[in-house]
Amino acid sequence: MLPAELIALEDRYGAHNYDPLDVVIERASGAWVYDTEGRRYLDFLAAYSAVNQGHCHPAIFQAMCRQAEKVTLTSRAFRNDQLPLLYRDLHELTGYEMALPMNSGAEGVETALKAARKWGAAVKGIADGQQEIIVAANNFHGRTIAIVGFSSDAQYRSGFGPFPAGFREVPFGDAEALRRAITPKTCAFLVEPIQGEAGIIIPPEGYLRQAAAICRENHVLLMVDEIQSGLGRTGKLFAYMHEAVTPDVVIVGKALSGGFYPVSAVLSSREVLSVFGPGDHGSTFGGNPLACAIARAALRVIVDEDLPARSAELGGYALNYLKSLRSPHIVELRGKGLWIGIELNRPARPFCEALKQRGVLCKETHASVIRLAPPLTIDKADLDWGLAQIRAVLEKKPSASAEPSAELAEAAASSLP
Ligand SMILES: *Cc1c(COP(=O)(O)O)cnc(C)c1O
Repeated sequence: MLPAELIALEDRYGAHNYDPLDVVIERASGAWVYDTEGRRYLDFLAAYSAVNQGHCHPAIFQAMCRQAEKVTLTSRAFRNDQLPLLYRDLHELTGYEMALPMNSGAEGVETALKAARKWGAAVKGIADGQQEIIVAANNFHGRTIAIVGFSSDAQYRSGFGPFPAGFREVPFGDAEALRRAITPKTCAFLVEPIQGEAGIIIPPEGYLRQAAAICRENHVLLMVDEIQSGLGRTGKLFAYMHEAVTPDVVIVGKALSGGFYPVSAVLSSREVLSVFGPGDHGSTFGGNPLACAIARAALRVIVDEDLPARSAELGGYALNYLKSLRSPHIVELRGKGLWIGIELNRPARPFCEALKQRGVLCKETHASVIRLAPPLTIDKADLDWGLAQIRAVLEKKPSASAEPSAELAEAAASSLP
C-alpha cells in the first residue's frame, strides 16, 4: 500500500491523540528505520528511549523467539520459570531487594503511588485516606487519570477530571520548596531525576542529594521515575547515580524491553514492596514469561555493550559538536549523556520536518525544544552524519516572513507527546 493510503486509513479509523511526522516505518535495524518506499532515516528519538539497545537487537530478538515458542502467558495465578530469573537479574544489577513487574510505564508509576500510600498508612502511621504525595512541576509520569491529575500541563488535564486528591506540587530543582511542602501526612516525593518530556531539564547540581536527605529526615520515600532517564540514557545506568543517592523506589520501563514489548517494574526495598499482600494489586500480563525473557535479554545488552559508557562518551561528543554550531535559532543546549535538548527561539516542528527530509527523525517536545535521543548503540560515523544534518538545518538563516512568537504559541498546542 502507498504511504498516503496508510496515512488516510490511520486518520480515518484511528483516534487522533498523536500528531506524528508523516513517515511510515516498515522495518528497522540498529539506529536506522526504513519507510515503506525503502528510504532510510537515522532514528534520533529511539521511541522516547525505549530502544536504547537499537532497533530489533538480535540478542533480544532471539530471546523473544525462543520464549514465544515455549510459553508466553501464564498469568500470576501460576508461577513461571522466567520471572524469578528476572527478579534475580534486577536485584544483581541494581541492588534493590525486590521488584514488582508491570507493563506500561504509567502502570509502573501507578504501582509506585499505591505502594507509597499503603506504606504511608501501614508503616509511617498516616491515617488511611490522608496520605500525601509531593510531585514536581512540569513532571511527566504517564497518562492515567491519577497521573494527569497532578500534571502541570493544562492540556493533559483538560476534560478528564475529577482527579484523585492527595498530591502537592513543588517547583522542580528547588529542594527547600520540597522541605516546606512536607507535612506529617507526606508519604513520598515522586520526581524525574532529569525531566525528559519537559525538554531535558537538568536540575541544579546537588538537588537530588538534598532531596534525598530531606526525605530521609522526614521519613518520606524518595521515588524516582527512571522510565526515560534510566538504563543508560544519561551516561550512567540510572540518572540518580550522577548524585550518588539511593532512592527508596525506582520506576523503570521503556528500554527495559529494548522496544520489543511493554515491560515496566517498580524496584524497592523489602519494607516498601512488602506492603502488598495477595490480591492488593496485580496485572494479567505483568511478569509474564515472554516479557521476563525479553527484559532479561534487554538488560544483558545494556551491560554487555556497556551502553551507559557509550552514552557518556558519545553524548559528550555530540554536545560539544552542537555547542560549536553558529545558529541564529538556538537559545540553550542541555544534555546528559546521549540525551540532548536543543531549545530554540521558535517552533521546533519545522526543523523536525526539515530533518526528516534530510533523513533524520526527531520530535519536538514542548513546542520549542528538539530532543535528541538516538539508540545508545549508534555508530560514531552515523552519529556524525546525523549531527551534520542538524547543523545544516539549524545554521540556515530564518526566512524573512517568519514571526517566531506567534508561530511558537500556535505550535505549543500541537507538540505535546
Ligand atoms: C514514557 C514515560 C512514562 C510513561 O510510560 P508509558 O509506557 O508511556 O506509560 C512515565 N514516565 C516517564 C518519565 C516517561 O518518560
